[in-house]
Amino acid sequence: MTATNRAALWFEPGRPFEIAEFPIPEPAAGGMTARITRSNICGSDLHYYRGDGKRNRAADPSRGVIQGHEGTGYVHALGDGVVTDWSGAPLAEGDRIAFQYFCPCGRCRNCTRGMSEACRQSFSVRQGPLDEWPYVRGTFADYLYLHPGQAVYRVPDNVSDTAVAGANCALAQVIMGLERVNVGLGDRVVIQGCGGLGVYACAIAKERGAEMVIAIDGLADRLALAAAMGADHLIDFRQHEDGRARVRAVKDLTDGLGADVVVEVVGFADVIDEGLRMLDWGGRYLEIGIPYTGTHFQCDPGRLTAQNHRIEAVGSYDARSLRHAVEFLARNAGVLPLDDVVVDYPLEQINQAFEDQLAGKVKRTSLVMAP
Ligand SMILES: [Zn+2]
Ligand SMILES: [Zn+2]
Repeated sequence: MTATNRAALWFEPGRPFEIAEFPIPEPAAGGMTARITRSNICGSDLHYYRGDGKRNRAADPSRGVIQGHEGTGYVHALGDGVVTDWSGAPLAEGDRIAFQYFCPCGRCRNCTRGMSEACRQSFSVRQGPLDEWPYVRGTFADYLYLHPGQAVYRVPDNVSDTAVAGANCALAQVIMGLERVNVGLGDRVVIQGCGGLGVYACAIAKERGAEMVIAIDGLADRLALAAAMGADHLIDFRQHEDGRARVRAVKDLTDGLGADVVVEVVGFADVIDEGLRMLDWGGRYLEIGIPYTGTHFQCDPGRLTAQNHRIEAVGSYDARSLRHAVEFLARNAGVLPLDDVVVDYPLEQINQAFEDQLAGKVKRTSLVMAP
């Protein structure tokens, strides 16, 4: 067991991460310290790395922040009173876990109305001085403290670390999103973008009963993975170069009508109007892919009203969605190519991992801290 807590410090766009060492946090009552085994580089990590939008810049570039949120690990130390996970299963040191990377307060107006995903306090656990307990507040590190309000689920033995690392952001987010727009039997669904969120969305849409899933991307390996995860039809950017051609391709596949649901997981605002134009009358548009503020899209609101469209958005998710994510992975281990969503890099190569993912050389990277 390492005695130190290595973490990757990020300062500002254009400056490489630096590895620094921090104390391993002692768990307080009701919480626990996790040994992080791997952390994926999520699309939102790429956005702040590149400096997209206005948010996610280090508050103080002279000191740095520890980013990273999509990851997994095992229980290093339990705080007083913790004996089970959030489903009531016994929990002990060494058990592998999936955890919420943010912490809804549980008592605000939205939390008490059953909308913990809209809690304003959720992300306060990710902020604080590096020299004050619990020191590290992101998963690009060896150890992370989990507060009592952060949902934790034990990971079944048949689910690999590689597969479960994406559960606490991409997968849970997609599960919450497709539930929000009520994807169900007979729906025709378009997924704009086949990164981690997109390929999970293909699988979850099919599980929920979608009649047809159409996946759109411009990279061959991402399209192939989308097909393996359940997409029925692929639209390759390289063959349909403008938005008009892609909208036509969707209409051609849907009896000239358009899709019932379109999901934005590209991460850029300029695809939204194109996606809205792919909808059938009465269709639902789901925005998930843009986690930063400061960009805008244009659309024709008269078309929204004339065609009775609905636009929904989700950021973060509730505890139940994380539980469903772990259950989905256990149900589909050995059935879907869940381990193929990421490519591994050691933590020390974090800068290379970001550069390779930004350059499109790899689909989604996973930083490995421990076997
Ligand atoms: Zn994420
Ligand atoms: Zn709250």
